[in-house]
Amino acid sequence: MTRDSGLGTPDSFPRAARRFEAVGFSEIVKVRNRVLELLAEGHRVWRFEGGEPYMPTPQPIKNAMTAALARNETRYAPSSGVPELRQAIIEKVRAKNGIPADDDSPIVVNGGMHGLFSAFGTLLDPGDEVLMFSPYWTPIMDVVIYHGASAALVPTARARREGLTAALAAATTPRTKLLYWNSPVNPTGEVFSRAEVEEVCAFVREKGLAMISDEAYEDLIYEGEGHVSPASFPGMFERTISVFTLSKTYSMTGWRAGYVLVPMRWRVPMKTIVLYSINGVSTPTQWAALEALRLPDSFLYEAKAGYRRRRDALVAGLRASGFEIDTPPAALYLFPKVPNALGSDSRSAARVLLDSARVATVPGLVFGPEGEGHLRFSFSVAEDTIAGGVEALRSFAAAPA
Ligand code: PLP
Repeated sequence: MTRDSGLGTPDSFPRAARRFEAVGFSEIVKVRNRVLELLAEGHRVWRFEGGEPYMPTPQPIKNAMTAALARNETRYAPSSGVPELRQAIIEKVRAKNGIPADDDSPIVVNGGMHGLFSAFGTLLDPGDEVLMFSPYWTPIMDVVIYHGASAALVPTARARREGLTAALAAATTPRTKLLYWNSPVNPTGEVFSRAEVEEVCAFVREKGLAMISDEAYEDLIYEGEGHVSPASFPGMFERTISVFTLSKTYSMTGWRAGYVLVPMRWRVPMKTIVLYSINGVSTPTQWAALEALRLPDSFLYEAKAGYRRRRDALVAGLRASGFEIDTPPAALYLFPKVPNALGSDSRSAARVLLDSARVATVPGLVFGPEGEGHLRFSFSVAEDTIAGGVEALRSFAAAPA
């Protein structure tokens, strides 16, 4: 009897499900683990590898959690969300995103990652193909593969230069099921224009595809055109699962709160996944999320001024250390080219910077082949981290090879 038969002997163990054989585990976590090793050895590390708001959760949100606990809001909530929160979500997406959400469309989820995982699970069969612009947010590739599907990558820079429709058409096959959309973009901080969103939506409609729209950074746009939700265009709400998170806007990464807007035809599978994966987000967290959605816009203006200041300081510091970089309009990241002196292999460049300058970044290759030759720096860090990191890079660049 072999270990693979499923009928074991007392000292044999069933293996993990085969679908994990092709699924990676975040390389960003590997960078973080190396950083933790260096810290444990007593080194000072300038950490730019993360992706979290630099500030704590606003006090009114914390107070709302405390008040919910005092009211004993600690029991099961409906698995799709507390009615008051779902209502606030409907009002928000109608007013701010122009999404024609009906009363039953919002489902509260355990952060954006859970919303995305559930959305892909709702739509993908093994063998399906997913259109994705590249560079892309790394976990999406693994989620696609987990579901037995594959990704068809559309290089963003070339597509924007030469035409989005033609680039999408070239990557589309009879197996294409959906397009994963992310704007503002992690890792580049780019924002697609209204005209570009409109063009992509027209393509999705014409080909009869679905869209999963990841709008994690909708509020972190510092200049230029504002955020555009694909589901706001005619005929798009019906074929789009829009995924939002409170993590970035409200500095709530650890709370695990987000929401999705799901058209009627996919609501039952989506609710089923949410029911059987989490059976609803923690009830007190949902009351805190409701308070977050009620915060006045002035909160965001202040937060954005802080992000802009950090972004500009890091852009200037990186340029002074030999990095080639345009200032991105949004999100939390810079995605400069690796300076020539470090070569074009982003993994080895990130390793050298970490081991020699004690500056932690994420190699661009992690975000797809189009990310090779780049490094991702988060500018959402303490201002003295920016000053210290830039100084370390300058000394490293000036040191004799
Ligand atoms: N989408 C993008 C593009 C992200 O960068 C992130 C987080 O880094 C998420 C979604 C999900 O965030 P969370 O699971 O914290 O809501």
